[in-house]
Amino acid sequence: MRTTVGIIGAGPAGLLLARLLHNAGIDSVVLESRDREYVERRQRAGILEQGTVDVLRAAGAGARMDREGLRHDGIELRYDRKRHRVDFPALTGGRSVMVYAQTEVCKDLIALQLAEGGPLLFEAEALAVQGVEGAEGVEGAGSGGPRVRFRHEGREDVLECEYVVGCDGFWGVARTAIPAELTRVFERSYPFGWLGILADVAPSHDELVYARHDRGFALLSMRSPSVSRLYLQVPDGTDAEEWSDEEIWDELERRFETADGWKLDRGPVTQKSVTPMRSYVHEPMRYGRLFLAGDAAHIVPPTGAKGLNLAVGDVVTFARALTYEKETGSAELLDAYSETCLRRVWQAERFSYDMTTLLHRTPDATPFEDRLQLARLERIAGARSAETDLAEGYTGFPLE
Ligand SMILES: Cc1cc2nc3c(=O)[nH]c(=O)nc-3n(C[C@H](O)[C@H](O)[C@H](O)COP(=O)(O)OP(=O)(O)OC[C@H]3O[C@@H](n4cnc5c(N)ncnc54)[C@H](O)[C@@H]3O)c2cc1C
Repeated sequence: MRTTVGIIGAGPAGLLLARLLHNAGIDSVVLESRDREYVERRQRAGILEQGTVDVLRAAGAGARMDREGLRHDGIELRYDRKRHRVDFPALTGGRSVMVYAQTEVCKDLIALQLAEGGPLLFEAEALAVQGVEGAEGVEGAGSGGPRVRFRHEGREDVLECEYVVGCDGFWGVARTAIPAELTRVFERSYPFGWLGILADVAPSHDELVYARHDRGFALLSMRSPSVSRLYLQVPDGTDAEEWSDEEIWDELERRFETADGWKLDRGPVTQKSVTPMRSYVHEPMRYGRLFLAGDAAHIVPPTGAKGLNLAVGDVVTFARALTYEKETGSAELLDAYSETCLRRVWQAERFSYDMTTLLHRTPDATPFEDRLQLARLERIAGARSAETDLAEGYTGFPLE
């Protein structure tokens, strides 16, 4: 097989990239190791920044999102049994976010790709990326050109391409093609994770609620007007099955409790899982003709709702750079890819880390640190500059 851009992974990054390239008249092949049903059902992100919404619309992938997505103009912070609403449009000059699940974004992009785009192979696992060598400029690729070895329908095959984009998430293979001596990894893991449930009950609040509590963090989110998504901070290594549904609801109730008698509605739990928390950045995001995008290059704790949005930023940057190269012959933007993406990535890393440390309780937190956490929340509730900083970070850092 031969194509211009070999894309490994059909998560939001790989699927959107294939769409953007198709729209620019550049052909690609997407290899995805899992089957279609698995990709369309994997519960993950749910908050789209304004910039992501704009990109999906411009790519022709926003019609169902505009019909079914829920525009949110704010979030609520809870601490000390108090409530504070952060009003995004008022603080950011009109920006908001969209609640539209990652599963739905992927379904829309898969349907478009299969109807109009290039090949998208499910159950096609990339085994190795070869021939991308040359850290200096895209001209430095190995003489045979980039190749992706993959397994599909029981046999091995090779995809030959001009460029490879590794959109294969944190556990993928693309990153391993970059020599260790050229790589710097920045990493932090946290001593807690999120126990997440999906429940068939209307959300108890019409906006997301981020609660800081002495027993740990809790988040109320939603997937639709009739499906709630809720999370509890739990110790690292917790098994979701250790918690009965009733224990989860009881604990959520405690952590969301307010002085004004707000009530949490319960319903049947349809899914339950634990997500570990990690901050991770792989530098550089490019090596020769191999480019990394999305979770393949960076992970943020989900507190800031940034992961999917960063993935979108990366592939927009790559698609623009490659289009520029095809139109002008200049590899200037491709050569700047890693630095361009990393500037935005580090702002999102900072924001996600700040949100996480603002709201979660570490097992060894001292009373002094507890008070500082509350003081930071009071500052956001009381000072417009601090509140604006949160609103700007949450609604998203602009693409360069
Ligand atoms: C519980 C949870 C909540 C989250 N909430 C949010 C949120 O609210 N907002 C937000 O923006 N982000 C959120 N995120 C993060 C977000 O889901 C990820 O950042 C996003 O999925 C990244 O997209 P991606 O395409 O880079 O990677 P992925 O979605 O991981 O996709 C990678 C794809 O590559 C495939 N693959 C892997 N290896 C191979 C191989 N060798 N060959 C072929 N295919 C391969 C995988 O099967 C997968 O389909 C959340 C994540 C979790 C876990």
